[in-house]
Amino acid sequence: MVNAISVLGSTGSIGRQTLAAAEHLGLPVAALTAGRKIDLLEEQARRFKPTFVAVYDEQAAKDFKIAVADTPIRVASGMEGLIEAATLAGSDCVVTAVSGSVGLRPTLAAIDAKKRIALANKETLVCAGELVMRRAKETGAEIVPVDSEHSAIFQCLMGRGEGELKKILLTGSGGPFRGKKREDLEDVTPEQAVRHPNWSMGAKISVDSSTLMNKGLEFIEAMHLFAVRPEDIQVVIHPQSVIHSMVELVDGTVIAQLGVPDMGLPIQLALTYPERRASMFERLDFWKLRDLSFEEPDLENMPCLRLAMDCAKTGGTAPCVMSAANETAVHLFLQHRLGYNRIYDAAAGAVAALGAVQHADLDTILACDEAARAYVRENFIA
Ligand code: MG
Repeated sequence: MVNAISVLGSTGSIGRQTLAAAEHLGLPVAALTAGRKIDLLEEQARRFKPTFVAVYDEQAAKDFKIAVADTPIRVASGMEGLIEAATLAGSDCVVTAVSGSVGLRPTLAAIDAKKRIALANKETLVCAGELVMRRAKETGAEIVPVDSEHSAIFQCLMGRGEGELKKILLTGSGGPFRGKKREDLEDVTPEQAVRHPNWSMGAKISVDSSTLMNKGLEFIEAMHLFAVRPEDIQVVIHPQSVIHSMVELVDGTVIAQLGVPDMGLPIQLALTYPERRASMFERLDFWKLRDLSFEEPDLENMPCLRLAMDCAKTGGTAPCVMSAANETAVHLFLQHRLGYNRIYDAAAGAVAALGAVQHADLDTILACDEAARAYVRENFIA
């Protein structure tokens, strides 16, 4: 088990569950960061007593500093604050639970500082998978996935030798609009899109799950994390979300990881790995699991997944552009400023307009990310 953690994005869904896991495990919390939800952040800071807290938003950081003036907590702001939290000497594990590409630079900094990365921020590997994995190899920093599918694959691959893996079977529930036609989704509201059938998650990732973009991002994430080619990953729709993903080995054996759909489980494992600790999570009851079903993903009506698979094959900055454009479009959708089906149009449009740079460095990646956001704002806001 790790000794102490820094939680980047502690007020979000994964961040809150990480703190619950830390409490259960008796694990010290060295640093917390949040965007601007300072009321919850103050509650967390008073309960977990970190030595350092960073608030991304400058004004919120000032307000937070006043709110905790009676404590010894050191407060910082902006990207500098996030990077300091990610590299703090008092912690050996950084949980990257921020949403979006804001997680990229702090994650790289944590890798350089040889911290264990409990990786919950998809955009890091989607935007800069090549760079991040190379850097982790160089420094020896461990990356333990928190995303349930990748945690499942990670567990299925424990103890396997080189060359034993044939392919990854990446499962997904299909989201709340499984079986629907694209033209029927024209008027979907944010409230409908965030209502996921099995998992309770933040708003951005819930919308991504409904468009299958989330599965597309996970596809790219898996490619980097497990060093496989796009053709070695098969997406399998499994509406019950009991199997969290599988691997097929060269001899034809398939190994699956099963559990109740609760993110607390992969979060705890990322902190205790390579050990396992008892937990309070609900157990699978096989008498109640009447059937587990599987189907092919509908790439026709859920084109975001197809787009992501194409970008995975193109490589370079194509996934970064797609992800940044999607992120911008989803935020606009959540603010009722963009129609549901325009999310795909925006992501696909940005990829077509901006192309892909191969073997990009961090500055190029961040410039592509910004260009994709600007493209969506210029072409898709009415
Ligand atoms: Mg997932």
